[in-house]
Amino acid sequence: MSLVFLNGEWCPIEDAKISVLDRGFIFGDGVYEVIPVYRRRPYREPQHLARLQYSLNGVRIANPYSNEDWSRHIQQIIERHSFEDQAVYIQVTRGVAPRNHPFPEAIAPTVFMMSNPLKRPSSEQVEHGVRAVSMEDQRWLHCDYKTTALLGNVLACQYAVDHQAIEVVQFRNGLLTEASSSNVMIVQDGCILAPQKNHLILHGITMNGVEEVAHRIEVPFEYTDISEEAVRTADEVWLTSSAKEVVAITTLDDKAVGTGKPGAVFKRIYTALQDDIAGYVAS
Ligand code: PMP
Repeated sequence: MSLVFLNGEWCPIEDAKISVLDRGFIFGDGVYEVIPVYRRRPYREPQHLARLQYSLNGVRIANPYSNEDWSRHIQQIIERHSFEDQAVYIQVTRGVAPRNHPFPEAIAPTVFMMSNPLKRPSSEQVEHGVRAVSMEDQRWLHCDYKTTALLGNVLACQYAVDHQAIEVVQFRNGLLTEASSSNVMIVQDGCILAPQKNHLILHGITMNGVEEVAHRIEVPFEYTDISEEAVRTADEVWLTSSAKEVVAITTLDDKAVGTGKPGAVFKRIYTALQDDIAGYVAS
C-alpha cells in the first residue's frame, strides 16, 4: 500500500479521490515535477522547486506552499516509503470548478504527491546505449512549462514504442528540440552541444547537471541551435532526464550513431554524473 498526499492529507492511494470537475482532469490545467531521490535524499531539490515555481508562474497558478513547506512534504513522503531510491511526483492543478475555460475566481489548487521506486537506467542501457527514432515536434509552443497536458508527449512516446525504440528525437523547423520525456544533446568534435534553453524545450535539471559536471571535468559545453544534419552526423547523441540520468542513443532511425557504441565523451560525463550523485548522497 502506497501513501499519497492530497490537499494536505495523507491517505492510501486507493482512497485518494478528486472531483471529476478538477481542471487537471477536464483541461490538463496543471503542472508537475518529478524529483529523483537517492538513498532517501532528494537530488537537486532546490532546482526542481525553482522549476515548479517557473511552471506555476507560466500558467498563472499561485504556489500553494513555500519551498520550506514543499521540502517538509517531500521529506515526509520519502519517509513513508520503504524503498531507498524514489521518484517523488508533485502535481498542482488549478482546482475544482464548473467547466468553463476562463480561470475561476478564488478556488484552491489541488495538490497531489506520490512516490514510486526510481527506475534508473539498466547496465545494459548504459553499456550499449538505446534506440531512438526521429519525428517532427508536434507539441505546443510552451514546452518550457512542465504541464500535465502531456498528450503531445504521450503520442511521441508511443511513436517510439511502436518503432521498437525507447525515445524520440524531435525536430521543429529543422532544429533539434528534445525527446518525449528527456532532453537530447550531441557531441561534435569533443564538444557537448545542447539546444538553446527557450520555450521549445523543458529546461532539464539533468541537462544543467551535465553542463555543471562538464565544466568540472573540463569538457566544452555549449547551448546552441542544432540542425537535423548536425544530429545525424554527430559523434554521439545522448538523452538526459532525472530517471535516465544520461544514456547514449546508439541507433537513430535504424542507423548507428557514431561508432554505434556509447562514446568516449559519454563515458566521462556518465562517470562524472555518478560521482556527483554519490558525492551528494555522502555529503
Ligand atoms: N524534457 C521533457 C519533455 C521531460 O518530460 C523531461 C523530464 N522527464 C525532461 C526533458 C528532462 O528533465 P529533467 O532532467 O529535469 O528530468
